[in-house]
Amino acid sequence: MKKHNFSAGPCILPHEVLQKASEAILNFNDSGLSLIEISHRSKDFVAVMEQAQGLALSLLGLEGKGYKALFLHGGASLEFLMVAYNLLNKKAAYVNTGTWSDKAIKEAKAFGEVVIAGSSKDDAFKYIPKNLNIPSDVDYLHITSNNTIYGTQYQQFPEVSVPLVCDMSSDIFSRNTDFSKFDLIYAGAQKNMGPAGTTLVVVKESILGKVERHIPSMLNYQLHIEKESMFNTPAVFPVYVSMLTMQWLKDLGGIAAIEKINRKKARLIYSEIDLNPLFIGYANKEDRSYMNATFNLSDPVLETRFNDMLKEGGINGLNGHRSVGGYRASMYNALSLESVGVLVDIMSDLERKA
Ligand SMILES: *Cc1c(COP(=O)(O)O)cnc(C)c1O
Repeated sequence: MKKHNFSAGPCILPHEVLQKASEAILNFNDSGLSLIEISHRSKDFVAVMEQAQGLALSLLGLEGKGYKALFLHGGASLEFLMVAYNLLNKKAAYVNTGTWSDKAIKEAKAFGEVVIAGSSKDDAFKYIPKNLNIPSDVDYLHITSNNTIYGTQYQQFPEVSVPLVCDMSSDIFSRNTDFSKFDLIYAGAQKNMGPAGTTLVVVKESILGKVERHIPSMLNYQLHIEKESMFNTPAVFPVYVSMLTMQWLKDLGGIAAIEKINRKKARLIYSEIDLNPLFIGYANKEDRSYMNATFNLSDPVLETRFNDMLKEGGINGLNGHRSVGGYRASMYNALSLESVGVLVDIMSDLERKA
C-alpha cells in the first residue's frame, strides 16, 4: 500500500533523491566506490560540498551578496549556542514562540542579557507576537520562522534595524521572501532538506568578528568559512542528500514553484479543518503554518476510529508533538498534494460515518 508520510522530522524526501542516494551508497559517480568510503577531501566529494553551498545560496537568491553557506554538525540545537557565541556581545533580543525558541533563549543567556522582544506563551504558543519590543542597542534579534510543534508561522517578518537571525529549520526553501533581510539563517537538514546529521548555516560575513571572547574552533563560524565546512570531516552522506534535494527543487523551478504547491496543500487541509465540525484547528488562523497543520478532534471518543482509518489509508506520522497532543500534518516540500487529498478524504469520511 502507498504510504503518505506526514512525519514532522526526520521526514519525507523526494523519492528520486532517495533513489540516487542509494545508488551513491553502492557506486558513487561510477567510481566503483561508495560515497561513504572515500575521502571527504577527494575531488568528487569537494565538488559535492561546493555544489551544496552554491545551491543553498542560489535557491535563497543570496549569491554575490556577501553571504556564505556552511554545512555544520550538531543540528539546529547547536546553532542555539553558536549564534550567541559568535554574535552576542552584551545584549540580544529573542521572540519566544515555543519550545525551540525557548531553547535558543536558554543558551543565549549564558553569553549576555536576553531581552524577550515578544512571547506567545500566554496563549500556549497559538500565535505569533506582532508588536515587538526591540531595544536599538541589541546585537541581534532572533526569531523562529515556523514553529513546528504548534503549527504557527510568520506570515510577515518583522522589519528591524538590528541584525536579524532566524531559525528556519522547518520551513527553509518552502516559500519565497527577500532573504537578504536576514543576517544569519540556520536549519537542521532533517525537515525540508535531507537526512538528520547536518545543519545549513547561511551567514552574512560582515556580521562576524565583532565579539571579544575566544570562540572554540568547532563553534567558530569564521573558521568554518575559511575551511569551507571542512575543518573536520563533514557529514558526507547528509550533505550529499541535501545537495540532491536542493538540485531537485531547483529543477522543479525553485522556491517560487514549490511555494505554489505548498499553499495549495495548506488550503486543502485548513478548509477541511474549518468546514468539518469534528476537527478544531490549534493555531490562530492568521498565523497558521503552511508546513505543519495542527488540529484536534472535537470529540475524543472518535480517536480510535480516526486512528484506524488513518492506518488503513496509509497515513504515517500524524501524531501531534508529545507536548501538545492531537494531530499534526507536516506537509514538507516533498509531500505531494495527492497525499494531502488522501488525508482530507479520510477526515471527511469520518464525518460521514460519525
Ligand atoms: C526540529 C527543530 C529544531 C531542532 O533541530 P535539531 O536539528 O534536532 O537540533 C530546532 N528548531 C526548529 C524550528 C525545529 O523544527
